[in-house]
Amino acid sequence: MSEFGTLTIRGLSEKPLSYSNFLSLIINYKFQFNLWHSSNKEVHIMVSPQKLIHLQNYTRAYSLPLEVMVSNVQSLIDGEQPAKSTDDSTFGWTRYYPLSAIEVFLDEILAKYPAVTTEINIGTSYEGRKIRGIKISYKEGNPGIFIEANIHAREWITSATATWLINELLSSTDEEVRSLAENHDWYIVPVLNVDGFTYTHETNRMWRKTRQPVEGSACIGADPNRNYNSHWMESNGASSNPCDETYGGPEPFSEPEVKALADYVTSIKERLNIMLAFHSYSQVLLSPYGWTSELPENHNDLTEVAKAYSDAVKELPYDTVYTYGSTANEMF
Ligand SMILES: [Zn+2]
Repeated sequence: MSEFGTLTIRGLSEKPLSYSNFLSLIINYKFQFNLWHSSNKEVHIMVSPQKLIHLQNYTRAYSLPLEVMVSNVQSLIDGEQPAKSTDDSTFGWTRYYPLSAIEVFLDEILAKYPAVTTEINIGTSYEGRKIRGIKISYKEGNPGIFIEANIHAREWITSATATWLINELLSSTDEEVRSLAENHDWYIVPVLNVDGFTYTHETNRMWRKTRQPVEGSACIGADPNRNYNSHWMESNGASSNPCDETYGGPEPFSEPEVKALADYVTSIKERLNIMLAFHSYSQVLLSPYGWTSELPENHNDLTEVAKAYSDAVKELPYDTVYTYGSTANEMF
């Protein structure tokens, strides 16, 4: 991994980069890459030095501006966690934790707040790990919010955000947070892709997919977020090549983690009003649909919520700008 670098490829200034054309050409070009970020304006790709020349030839041929974003990805990985001397015994939000520590955190929360928390067990992963979550409910009849995080294995900050949210909902004394916490039922699954997440901690920091082998291929896993039984493989963002990062799987719901999530959510759908999925990185609020650029009936409502979020974030002192729109229109 030590020599991998990441590059930004921007669309031509006079016309946006066509992501689908770009992606299919890259795939036809027969070199593997690691897609970090894509939008209709630019893509970020991690490449090995051996394959860099192919990418440069390609971008030159299509006059696509190419620039180095990170010259050595391993150096970032090496610097990600604080030094080992940091106290590892208490869970917190200054470093990233493996699945076992997140489970201990959940157990401690369940023990500390037994009146308002319930354990959720949504199912079992391909490698036999439990997919756990927590329900926080202060009273009967609240509208329900479901949050799923770390469906993509390497997106560690999403489960850190989910555990932070669990902690805030239970312990914050801020009036607005208390109101949010106590007037909604929260269903939070911090790590959905438990096998992939474990693999990123133990073997390959950049792993994204599940860990289920693919029949007839040496490549492992599917992109669980492309594996739902809803317009499966109809999006430009899903690949049928098992070696791709966005492989949709051999069939819908082939990945047990995705099937378990869908079954669980279906079982409580009458109680749910909002479903959120946390991803990284990008500052964007994506709403349905991903498979067509047509918009759902409640698009205006969704846009109103997204705008309110984006405007609120702008007020914070971090210069963070969130864009928003439907997945198909924002991403492809
Ligand atoms: Zn993701």
